[in-house]
Amino acid sequence: MHISYTLAVIITVIAMMCMAQKAKKNKNETTRALIRVTHCVTLTVIASLVAMIFPNEKVANFMQTLHYASIEWVLIFFLAFLEKYTDVVKTTVKSRMIVFVGSGILSMSLLLNSIFGHVVYCVNETTRGVSFRIFKHVAPWYYIHMVFSLFLCLLCLLILIHAAVNSIAFYRVKYVPAIWAFSFTIILELVCDIRHARMNYALFGYIWMGIFLLYFTLYHTNKGLISQTLSFVTSKAYSGVLCFDIEGKCIYANDIMWKMYPEFTKLEDFKEPFKDYIGEYSLSYSNGRVWYHEHIINNEIRHYEITFAKINDEREDWIGSCFYIYDRTQSVDELESANYQATHDGLTGLYNADAFYQLVSEKKAEDKKPSLLLAADIKDFKLINDLYGFSKGNAILCKLAKCLKEGITDECIACRLNSDRFAIYLPKEDFSEDKIRDYIKPVYSLVDEFNYKINLHFGVYFVRPEDDDPTVMYDRARVALSLIKNDYTKMFSYYDDNMMQKKLREKELVGEIDKAIEEGQFKMFLQPQITPEGKMIGAEALVRWMHPIQGMISPGEFIPTFEKSGFIHKLDKYMWELAAKQIKKWQDMGLKDYYISVNISPTDFYYMDVYQTVVDIVEKYAIPPVNLKLEITESAFMNDPENQLSLIAKLQNYGFQVEIDDFGSGYSSLNMLKDLKADVLKIDMGFLRKSSENDRAMMIVDAVIKMAQNLKMLVVTEGVETIEQVEFLTKAGCDIFQGYYFDRPIPVDEFETKYLEHRFIKY
Ligand code: C2E
Ligand code: CA
Ligand code: CA
Repeated sequence: MHISYTLAVIITVIAMMCMAQKAKKNKNETTRALIRVTHCVTLTVIASLVAMIFPNEKVANFMQTLHYASIEWVLIFFLAFLEKYTDVVKTTVKSRMIVFVGSGILSMSLLLNSIFGHVVYCVNETTRGVSFRIFKHVAPWYYIHMVFSLFLCLLCLLILIHAAVNSIAFYRVKYVPAIWAFSFTIILELVCDIRHARMNYALFGYIWMGIFLLYFTLYHTNKGLISQTLSFVTSKAYSGVLCFDIEGKCIYANDIMWKMYPEFTKLEDFKEPFKDYIGEYSLSYSNGRVWYHEHIINNEIRHYEITFAKINDEREDWIGSCFYIYDRTQSVDELESANYQATHDGLTGLYNADAFYQLVSEKKAEDKKPSLLLAADIKDFKLINDLYGFSKGNAILCKLAKCLKEGITDECIACRLNSDRFAIYLPKEDFSEDKIRDYIKPVYSLVDEFNYKINLHFGVYFVRPEDDDPTVMYDRARVALSLIKNDYTKMFSYYDDNMMQKKLREKELVGEIDKAIEEGQFKMFLQPQITPEGKMIGAEALVRWMHPIQGMISPGEFIPTFEKSGFIHKLDKYMWELAAKQIKKWQDMGLKDYYISVNISPTDFYYMDVYQTVVDIVEKYAIPPVNLKLEITESAFMNDPENQLSLIAKLQNYGFQVEIDDFGSGYSSLNMLKDLKADVLKIDMGFLRKSSENDRAMMIVDAVIKMAQNLKMLVVTEGVETIEQVEFLTKAGCDIFQGYYFDRPIPVDEFETKYLEHRFIKY
């Protein structure tokens, strides 16, 4: 019995010592305090064993008191350990010193027992042939020590209980077993002591308490706490977390997972979307592998990014699969929208220029079908914006875009390059003028709403096999388009190579306008206006460009170009000033009646305040406005007739005479004459000349003259070339003639010599 008890004690002590040795690696304060406790426990145990079995009684008595003393030190070091382990008490250096010194004295008093025998003495007894040793206690010293030890025990117990009560459930596990073990040891110690037990079983209590605490501080990990923490972390994670075992059974899904798959009600449901990645499939995937998966919730596509992670045990054996699922819908949407914005026009939703060129390049490369590129724009779009505001302008652009997008063909690529410039690339077989007219019909429905006639123009370029730059294709379509820009009758213009030459020439001319004005290269020529009596009463000012290199360029060549490019107003203003200066000169010479008619281009009205400009000019030169006649063509009234009419009235009120130029050359509307109260009607002879039915044409001229007379308008006929015409027109009642029959437009000085000296000419 003795032997087995001793062996058991020794083995457990060795186990505890080994653990303590291992714990030394852990260099924190708590572990160090605990190791100190275990050293004391070892001493207590050894002392107790020796006391029990050593034959010499003196040594036995000494060892027994050493056992008592070391128990006190076990408790003191245990207290020191609890201070670190529980955070319940906080001692100071001073209080620690007092305890150490006090305990030292008490220990000394115990050890002096060898001399005085005042605490304990051993007695050897034999019962049923077995001899053993018991220790008898001596009052009061033994009991003083006992009370002191009990006091320390109580203190330790109270600290442990306090810590246990105040800790959260997960951490209570650290204290509760310690409380049990400790209480058990105290009881054992007391029982063994009081009953003078032959063997001190409390030794096991000390050792196991040491082992237990070492285990707790060194090795114990709180599984419940871990799993709870993990599920807390995963449930709060930003991604969905889903785990499957090796058989492909879903074992865990965090809260986010359930939100990402709201239609799922049980773990099993997750198997379906992940079926290709779980079970044995998992083996073929490496950690960190990413998939993308689209999931529809409430008819809305969600984009999930799935990252795979293999779960392995410590031996690297595969035990399951884990998936992190991120909802990337927002970033995908943002990317798509950024991509959309980068390739589309914000207003109309058509492609933008960059995307268009890119797509055309690709289309042309992959599809060898004959194709064409249309450049489209809205005539006088700036004017629409000015008159009706940007929102109406935008409405027209959107409508046109919608027609282009929905119409034509699936294969066509439509874009808005900027402002009112559109481009469409489509197979040749899908193109016909009628088709296009049909598609854009809805745009004209806006006409009624705005009371404005929208004109669309298309430049057409048939793409050639060798073409590889879409911007060049577009430029060519644009060149074709630009050549009909001022023509209201034509909607389509087809590119040919001469156009490019013409365009380059136009560009050249437009580029020189400012310099030419500055250097006075534009000269005013005058063409006389003659009464039936042969009297010169005034002249029309017609510009000639005396180009320093190219010689004289006729207005027929550069006026339309300037009108298209919007620069004509600069030239016109310049010409009006030349005319005003000339009138002023004549006025100063006493020739008060001679007038000069100047041309006002329809586009002048977009680019300047015509009224203010002409008023400023007559005021600047102090001439009567009646001497500066204003020729306006019918086309100037086509758009926005209301404003134009009131402008005419304003000019007339100021004293200007307004003439309708080229009457009969464009699409004259007799209806317009009803409202347009001009002073002079200038009949264009051109349309008569083209007619084979001369008689009928003459009847019309005759009727027009009669009508003008009734409307109290003066009639000027221009382009008069023959005496027959003069005679006929005179008979019809024409008031004034202008034409080669009398004279060509001539330089001012020539005009002055010719007409101011001989005011009457014979014919
Ligand atoms: P327009 O205003 O109709 O001017 C009359 C044109 O007819 C002039 O051509 C003149 O030379 C020509 N002409 C005159 N009598 C006859 C004739 O008996 N037979 C023929 N076949 N032609 C005759 P021009 O000077 O070449 O001017 C052409 C057009 O250029 C003008 O037509 C006018 O629209 C424009 N233009 C000329 N000067 C200016 C200007 O300073 N400003 C603006 N905006 N346009 C101008
Ligand atoms: Ca004219
Ligand atoms: Ca004319």
